[in-house]
Amino acid sequence: MEKLIITIAPTGNVPTKKMTHHVPVTPEEIANDIIACYEAGAAVAHIHVRDEEGIPTSDKDIFAKVLRQLEERACPITRQISTGARGGKSAEERGASLSLKPQSASLSTGSSNFPTTINANDPALINYLASIMLEGDIKPEIEVFDVAMIHNAVQLQKAGMIKGPLLFNLVLGVKGSLPATAKNLFFLVESLPPDAIWSVSVIGSKHVNLSMIAMALGGHVRVGLEDNIYYSKDVLATNIALVERIANLAKAMGREIASPEDVKRIWDIK
Ligand code: ZN
Repeated sequence: MEKLIITIAPTGNVPTKKMTHHVPVTPEEIANDIIACYEAGAAVAHIHVRDEEGIPTSDKDIFAKVLRQLEERACPITRQISTGARGGKSAEERGASLSLKPQSASLSTGSSNFPTTINANDPALINYLASIMLEGDIKPEIEVFDVAMIHNAVQLQKAGMIKGPLLFNLVLGVKGSLPATAKNLFFLVESLPPDAIWSVSVIGSKHVNLSMIAMALGGHVRVGLEDNIYYSKDVLATNIALVERIANLAKAMGREIASPEDVKRIWDIK
Protein backbone atom coordinates (compact mmCIF):
# COMPACT_ATOMS: atom_id res chain seq x y z
CA MET A 1 0.00 0.00 0.00
CA GLU A 2 1.14 3.57 -0.71
CA LYS A 3 2.76 5.47 2.15
CA LEU A 4 0.37 7.55 4.25
CA ILE A 5 0.36 11.31 3.71
CA ILE A 6 -0.60 13.15 6.90
CA THR A 7 -1.81 16.69 6.27
CA ILE A 8 -1.87 19.18 9.12
CA ALA A 9 -4.61 21.84 9.01
CA PRO A 10 -3.52 23.85 12.05
CA THR A 11 -5.80 26.89 12.00
CA GLY A 12 -8.79 26.91 9.61
CA ASN A 13 -11.36 29.68 9.82
CA VAL A 14 -13.44 28.73 12.83
CA PRO A 15 -11.40 28.10 16.01
CA THR A 16 -10.62 31.16 18.11
CA LYS A 17 -8.31 31.62 21.08
CA LYS A 18 -11.45 31.80 23.22
CA MET A 19 -12.50 28.34 22.02
CA THR A 20 -9.03 26.86 22.48
CA HIS A 21 -5.79 28.54 23.45
CA HIS A 22 -3.98 25.86 21.41
CA VAL A 23 -5.04 27.30 18.04
CA PRO A 24 -2.19 29.09 16.22
CA VAL A 25 -3.32 32.38 14.66
CA THR A 26 -0.28 34.62 14.16
CA PRO A 27 2.13 33.76 11.32
CA GLU A 28 4.75 32.82 13.89
CA GLU A 29 2.41 30.54 15.84
CA ILE A 30 1.19 28.92 12.63
CA ALA A 31 4.75 28.28 11.40
CA ASN A 32 5.79 26.90 14.82
CA ASP A 33 2.93 24.40 14.81
CA ILE A 34 3.58 23.37 11.20
CA ILE A 35 7.26 22.72 11.92
CA ALA A 36 6.48 20.69 15.05
CA CYS A 37 3.85 18.71 13.10
CA TYR A 38 6.34 18.05 10.31
CA GLU A 39 8.69 16.62 12.91
CA ALA A 40 5.85 14.41 14.19
CA GLY A 41 5.09 13.01 10.71
CA ALA A 42 3.02 15.52 8.72
CA ALA A 43 4.08 15.91 5.08
CA VAL A 44 1.59 18.59 3.97
CA ALA A 45 0.50 21.84 5.64
CA HIS A 46 -2.97 23.14 4.70
CA ILE A 47 -2.63 26.81 5.57
CA HIS A 48 -5.22 29.44 6.50
CA VAL A 49 -4.32 32.82 7.97
CA ARG A 50 -5.94 35.42 10.22
CA ASP A 51 -5.67 39.19 10.45
CA GLU A 52 -4.49 41.01 13.59
CA GLU A 53 -7.93 40.61 15.17
CA GLY A 54 -7.84 36.87 14.53
CA ILE A 55 -10.41 37.09 11.71
CA PRO A 56 -10.01 34.82 8.65
CA THR A 57 -8.45 36.61 5.69
CA SER A 58 -6.99 35.87 2.24
CA ASP A 59 -4.36 38.58 2.75
CA LYS A 60 -1.43 37.59 0.59
CA ASP A 61 1.10 39.37 2.80
CA ILE A 62 0.10 37.33 5.83
CA PHE A 63 0.33 34.07 3.87
CA ALA A 64 3.76 35.27 2.70
CA LYS A 65 4.87 35.70 6.32
CA VAL A 66 4.01 32.09 7.14
CA LEU A 67 5.75 30.79 4.00
CA ARG A 68 8.81 32.94 4.73
CA GLN A 69 9.15 31.47 8.24
CA LEU A 70 8.95 27.94 6.86
CA GLU A 71 11.58 28.90 4.28
CA GLU A 72 13.90 30.54 6.82
CA ARG A 73 13.66 27.58 9.15
CA ALA A 74 14.24 25.15 6.25
CA CYS A 75 11.05 23.17 6.79
CA PRO A 76 10.48 20.99 3.70
CA ILE A 77 6.77 20.35 4.35
CA THR A 78 4.52 20.65 1.26
CA ARG A 79 2.76 24.03 1.28
CA GLN A 80 -0.95 24.16 0.50
CA ILE A 81 -2.82 27.46 0.67
CA SER A 82 -6.56 27.66 1.30
CA THR A 83 -8.69 29.54 -1.23
CA GLY A 84 -11.80 28.82 0.87
CA ALA A 85 -15.00 30.85 0.90
CA ARG A 86 -14.63 32.13 4.45
CA GLY A 87 -11.29 33.84 3.87
CA GLY A 88 -12.39 36.30 1.20
CA LYS A 89 -15.33 37.44 -0.89
CA SER A 90 -14.37 38.11 -4.49
CA ALA A 91 -12.59 35.65 -6.79
CA GLU A 92 -9.60 38.01 -6.91
CA GLU A 93 -9.38 38.15 -3.12
CA ARG A 94 -9.61 34.40 -2.79
CA GLY A 95 -6.99 33.79 -5.46
CA ALA A 96 -4.55 36.58 -4.46
CA SER A 97 -2.23 34.33 -2.45
CA LEU A 98 -1.76 31.99 -5.44
CA SER A 99 0.78 34.49 -6.77
CA LEU A 100 3.03 33.24 -3.93
CA LYS A 101 3.26 30.01 -5.97
CA PRO A 102 2.58 27.44 -3.23
CA GLN A 103 2.97 23.82 -4.34
CA SER A 104 -0.74 23.24 -3.79
CA ALA A 105 -3.97 25.09 -3.05
CA SER A 106 -7.48 24.06 -2.13
CA LEU A 107 -10.20 24.26 -4.78
CA SER A 108 -13.87 23.71 -4.03
CA THR A 109 -15.68 22.55 -7.16
CA GLY A 110 -19.20 23.29 -5.95
CA SER A 111 -21.22 24.99 -3.25
CA SER A 112 -22.60 23.70 0.03
CA ASN A 113 -23.51 25.03 3.45
CA PHE A 114 -21.23 25.66 6.38
CA PRO A 115 -22.96 25.77 9.80
CA THR A 116 -23.82 29.48 9.58
CA THR A 117 -22.76 30.60 6.07
CA ILE A 118 -22.68 29.38 2.49
CA ASN A 119 -19.62 27.67 1.04
CA ALA A 120 -20.15 29.65 -2.15
CA ASN A 121 -18.22 28.52 -5.21
CA ASP A 122 -19.98 29.50 -8.41
CA PRO A 123 -18.80 28.13 -11.79
CA ALA A 124 -17.03 31.35 -12.80
CA LEU A 125 -15.07 31.44 -9.55
CA ILE A 126 -14.12 27.75 -9.85
CA ASN A 127 -12.88 28.31 -13.43
CA TYR A 128 -10.97 31.42 -12.38
CA LEU A 129 -9.14 29.71 -9.50
CA ALA A 130 -8.52 26.53 -11.52
CA SER A 131 -6.99 28.51 -14.40
CA ILE A 132 -4.58 30.38 -12.09
CA MET A 133 -3.53 27.08 -10.52
CA LEU A 134 -3.01 25.53 -13.95
CA GLU A 135 -0.89 28.46 -15.13
CA GLY A 136 1.14 28.56 -11.92
CA ASP A 137 1.68 24.78 -11.78
CA ILE A 138 -0.09 24.70 -8.39
CA LYS A 139 -1.66 21.33 -7.56
CA PRO A 140 -5.36 21.82 -6.78
CA GLU A 141 -6.74 19.78 -3.91
CA ILE A 142 -10.44 19.36 -4.60
CA GLU A 143 -12.39 19.90 -1.38
CA VAL A 144 -15.36 17.54 -1.56
CA PHE A 145 -18.43 18.35 0.54
CA ASP A 146 -20.81 16.55 -1.81
CA VAL A 147 -20.52 13.90 -4.53
CA ALA A 148 -21.37 16.48 -7.22
CA MET A 149 -18.03 18.16 -6.52
CA ILE A 150 -16.20 14.98 -7.58
CA HIS A 151 -18.14 14.91 -10.84
CA ASN A 152 -17.43 18.61 -11.46
CA ALA A 153 -13.70 18.06 -10.94
CA VAL A 154 -13.70 15.20 -13.47
CA GLN A 155 -15.47 17.51 -15.95
CA LEU A 156 -12.82 20.19 -15.36
CA GLN A 157 -10.09 17.62 -15.98
CA LYS A 158 -11.79 16.58 -19.24
CA ALA A 159 -11.91 20.25 -20.25
CA GLY A 160 -8.14 20.49 -19.64
CA MET A 161 -8.52 22.85 -16.70
CA ILE A 162 -7.06 20.52 -14.05
CA LYS A 163 -4.17 18.13 -14.64
CA GLY A 164 -4.46 14.57 -13.36
CA PRO A 165 -4.09 12.61 -11.24
CA LEU A 166 -6.89 14.42 -9.41
CA LEU A 167 -6.29 15.05 -5.72
CA PHE A 168 -9.33 15.05 -3.44
CA ASN A 169 -9.98 15.79 0.21
CA LEU A 170 -13.26 14.20 1.29
CA VAL A 171 -14.81 16.34 4.01
CA LEU A 172 -17.33 14.69 6.30
CA GLY A 173 -19.16 15.94 9.35
CA VAL A 174 -19.57 19.64 8.55
CA LYS A 175 -22.99 20.72 9.83
CA GLY A 176 -25.06 21.41 6.71
CA SER A 177 -23.10 18.96 4.54
CA LEU A 178 -22.50 15.19 4.46
CA PRO A 179 -22.66 13.54 7.91
CA ALA A 180 -19.58 11.65 9.13
CA THR A 181 -20.61 8.05 8.52
CA ALA A 182 -18.73 5.08 7.07
CA LYS A 183 -21.49 4.71 4.47
CA ASN A 184 -20.93 8.27 3.21
CA LEU A 185 -17.17 7.71 3.14
CA PHE A 186 -17.58 4.55 1.04
CA PHE A 187 -20.03 6.33 -1.26
CA LEU A 188 -17.53 9.15 -1.92
CA VAL A 189 -14.58 6.79 -2.36
CA GLU A 190 -16.56 4.65 -4.84
CA SER A 191 -17.44 7.81 -6.77
CA LEU A 192 -13.79 8.80 -7.34
CA PRO A 193 -12.03 8.30 -10.67
CA PRO A 194 -9.78 5.20 -10.55
CA ASP A 195 -6.45 7.05 -10.44
CA ALA A 196 -7.56 9.60 -7.82
CA ILE A 197 -5.44 10.38 -4.77
CA TRP A 198 -7.60 11.11 -1.76
CA SER A 199 -7.61 11.99 1.88
CA VAL A 200 -10.33 12.40 4.47
CA SER A 201 -10.98 15.28 6.75
CA VAL A 202 -13.53 14.33 9.38
CA ILE A 203 -15.13 16.84 11.73
CA GLY A 204 -16.51 15.64 15.06
CA SER A 205 -16.22 12.66 17.35
CA LYS A 206 -16.01 10.11 14.50
CA HIS A 207 -12.78 11.56 13.18
CA VAL A 208 -10.46 8.88 14.51
CA ASN A 209 -12.62 5.93 13.46
CA LEU A 210 -13.29 7.21 9.95
CA SER A 211 -9.65 8.20 9.51
CA MET A 212 -8.70 4.61 10.34
CA ILE A 213 -11.14 3.30 7.71
CA ALA A 214 -9.58 5.68 5.18
CA MET A 215 -6.10 4.48 6.14
CA ALA A 216 -7.15 0.84 5.72
CA LEU A 217 -8.58 1.64 2.27
CA GLY A 218 -5.33 3.27 1.10
CA GLY A 219 -6.50 6.85 1.56
CA HIS A 220 -4.62 9.63 3.29
CA VAL A 221 -5.59 11.65 6.38
CA ARG A 222 -5.89 15.30 7.28
CA VAL A 223 -5.99 16.31 10.93
CA GLY A 224 -5.69 19.55 12.85
CA LEU A 225 -7.56 22.13 14.86
CA GLU A 226 -9.24 23.35 11.66
CA ASP A 227 -11.28 20.14 11.78
CA ASN A 228 -11.34 19.25 15.48
CA ILE A 229 -10.49 21.25 18.55
CA TYR A 230 -11.09 18.22 20.77
CA TYR A 231 -8.70 15.29 21.02
CA SER A 232 -11.32 13.21 22.78
CA LYS A 233 -14.40 13.96 24.87
CA ASP A 234 -13.78 17.17 26.87
CA VAL A 235 -10.04 17.07 26.12
CA LEU A 236 -8.71 19.92 23.99
CA ALA A 237 -6.40 18.89 21.18
CA THR A 238 -3.08 20.27 20.04
CA ASN A 239 -2.05 20.01 16.40
CA ILE A 240 1.00 17.99 17.34
CA ALA A 241 -0.98 15.45 19.39
CA LEU A 242 -3.43 14.94 16.51
CA VAL A 243 -0.58 14.23 14.07
CA GLU A 244 1.18 11.94 16.55
CA ARG A 245 -1.96 9.85 17.06
CA ILE A 246 -2.41 9.26 13.31
CA ALA A 247 1.30 8.48 12.90
CA ASN A 248 1.09 5.94 15.75
CA LEU A 249 -2.04 4.33 14.29
CA ALA A 250 -0.34 4.08 10.88
CA LYS A 251 2.63 2.35 12.48
CA ALA A 252 0.30 -0.06 14.29
CA MET A 253 -1.38 -0.83 10.95
CA GLY A 254 1.97 -1.34 9.24
CA ARG A 255 1.62 1.65 6.96
CA GLU A 256 4.69 3.78 6.33
CA ILE A 257 4.50 7.56 6.70
CA ALA A 258 5.17 9.70 3.61
CA SER A 259 7.75 12.49 3.64
CA PRO A 260 7.36 15.74 1.66
CA GLU A 261 9.67 14.10 -0.91
CA ASP A 262 7.19 11.20 -1.22
CA VAL A 263 4.35 13.71 -1.68
CA LYS A 264 6.07 15.04 -4.81
CA ARG A 265 6.04 11.55 -6.30
CA ILE A 266 2.52 10.64 -5.16
CA TRP A 267 0.94 13.94 -6.25
CA ASP A 268 3.17 14.22 -9.34
CA ILE A 269 4.41 17.72 -8.45
CA LYS A 270 7.83 19.39 -8.55
ZN1 ZN B 1 -9.18 24.71 5.06
